[in-house]
Amino acid sequence: MSALAPYAAQQDNSRGRRHPEPAPAYRSEYQRDRDRIVHSAAFRRLEYKTQVFVNHEGDLFRTRLTHSLEVAQIARTIARSLALNEDLAEAIALAHDLGHTPFGHAGQDALNACMKPHGGFEHNAQSLRVVDELEDKYAEFRGLNLCFETREGILKHCSVKRARSLGDVGERFLKKRQPGLEAQLANLADEIAYNNHDVDDGLRARLLTIEQLREVPLFARHHDVVVKAYSGLSPKQVRHETIRRMTNTLVSDLTEHTRERLRRLKPKHPDDIRAQPAALVGFGDQVREENQELKRFLRQHLYRHYQVHRVMVKAQRVVRDLFEALFADPRLLLPEFFAEAEAAEREAGQAGRARVIADYIAGMTDRYALDEHERLFDPRRLR
Ligand code: MG
Repeated sequence: MSALAPYAAQQDNSRGRRHPEPAPAYRSEYQRDRDRIVHSAAFRRLEYKTQVFVNHEGDLFRTRLTHSLEVAQIARTIARSLALNEDLAEAIALAHDLGHTPFGHAGQDALNACMKPHGGFEHNAQSLRVVDELEDKYAEFRGLNLCFETREGILKHCSVKRARSLGDVGERFLKKRQPGLEAQLANLADEIAYNNHDVDDGLRARLLTIEQLREVPLFARHHDVVVKAYSGLSPKQVRHETIRRMTNTLVSDLTEHTRERLRRLKPKHPDDIRAQPAALVGFGDQVREENQELKRFLRQHLYRHYQVHRVMVKAQRVVRDLFEALFADPRLLLPEFFAEAEAAEREAGQAGRARVIADYIAGMTDRYALDEHERLFDPRRLR
């Protein structure tokens, strides 16, 4: 990697790992983090987890896995162009959705409602729990033992109550500080990725139309450019040429406005970034507003589309049924999970039992959850 900016995360300004380890021979510390994430079971499960469309709705829609790869690609581009740590940005991007339940936000809302009396459930906090606790296959430590900066980036938001129990990575939520730049840009790369790929998937699913999308200024102005520049394009080409221009506008605007803010602030160390009252990575005013309008449009016309809604209500029912059945009778769990639930209950009462069940459900893929639901509720299923 060529020379990084003084405010980029680097090995010599890293806060290190919870369990100290010898330095890797050929990789940077953040490359090692990225590799551990890619080798985790939670990462492989992303392939069968909903982004917007449930896995069995079609083979060509984004999944959590392809979404995470698109986020990583955007994050790496921005990081490299600003002389930030590309490996760290990539690691954060690949891990950011590891804690997602099956069935996307609908699944998380249902699980959160079930967990209300037991401390709640939040997919972002769960992503950190996956890398800190639940991936349990190394001899010398629990979790993946990632660097502080990677864990800091994974924890995007957090309640004050939870922050108190999280130690060093929770501190910034108590002191109202910022995370490092790589974390900030991975967060916005997530937004850029889903806003654009959801337009693409929504059009391909025929839940959205070009005419509707032309209400959105960011879409309309790039659509105009494409239609004016070319004649005889197929609908697929028009769609792609428009969306790639939107993505490019968002990435360029974000990069240039962030570069300008860094030029003015002249930070000398990542901690100068953390001490700021607000995030430094961001769009300029016009594009920020256009991006907001796109988000509002998607919320209203795609995420609340009745066809999406019907699938999601069914999905919530599945999650709720699973939780209620397993919580009422933990002996329905596989024996190793039952033993874990019992141990957790001895330690933390009902909340302990509930947490083991929530971890189990959150770890399920869409299809595993549907299958487990059948196994539990269909008397004709033997196993
Ligand atoms: Mg995401």
